[in-house]
Amino acid sequence: MLLADIKAILLSLQILKALLLLFPLATFGVAIWTLVTMWLWRADKRRAEQEWYDLRYRADGKPYPPAGRGFCDNCETPCQKVYYMPSNRRLCPDCYKKFHES
Ligand SMILES: [Zn+2]
Repeated sequence: MLLADIKAILLSLQILKALLLLFPLATFGVAIWTLVTMWLWRADKRRAEQEWYDLRYRADGKPYPPAGRGFCDNCETPCQKVYYMPSNRRLCPDCYKKFHES
């Protein structure tokens, strides 16, 4: 009876020791996971902000003119996106790029 009690106590001490060892490891794992997730989230946010900026602003920092669907007045093709120029002309992104490079 006494020997069985001692064995039970020793077993519970071993279980307690294992739990005390696992808790810091689990905490460390959660901390590493949180840091990696934060880093991925920040990189994704930065990429999305750059994408948003590139859609609205040209490489020289000036905003693109208003845009919509329609026909390009230069190449006369239907486009998902044409820029409405101040001169009442509509240009597709390719023609707009050529127009600005010249
Ligand atoms: Zn065009």
